[in-house]
Amino acid sequence: MRIGHGYDVHRLRAGRRLVLGGVDIPWELGLDGHSDADVVTHAVMDALLGAAGMGDIGRHFPDSDARYRGISSLCLLEQVAALLARAGWQVENVDATILAQRPKLAAHLPAMGENLARALAIAPEQVNVKATTEEGLGFTGAGEGMAAHAVCLLTRLPG
Ligand code: MG
Repeated sequence: MRIGHGYDVHRLRAGRRLVLGGVDIPWELGLDGHSDADVVTHAVMDALLGAAGMGDIGRHFPDSDARYRGISSLCLLEQVAALLARAGWQVENVDATILAQRPKLAAHLPAMGENLARALAIAPEQVNVKATTEEGLGFTGAGEGMAAHAVCLLTRLPG
């Protein structure tokens, strides 16, 4: 078994979509970045790549590469899943936490989990996504950005 941890941060700004776990959330601000800036999906990918000893998303999908401009992070997650499978790993579970002061995310969490599970070709029960504020403290509390943590467990594919 291997465990992995991922962490990511994106800045909030006007004129961008807010995409979390592949869910488009209507709000006045969105996350800035080269791809769709889906901070929780990025944290999940880094956890998976970390557990497999395969580096991080910056190594596999560099933001200097025009192919990844505006790309759905769920597509990148599918590519990570393929890399893991090729290396003989299966995903047992993923647990992720989004740190955001606003908007309220609770109603969107199940859809995020389903999207992540689908991209990884695992059951929705194997993916847990939760959200918390940081009580108004720090950059997430000030609404300057959002952060996400993720952990995962991998096991060897049989055979
Ligand atoms: Mg990122």
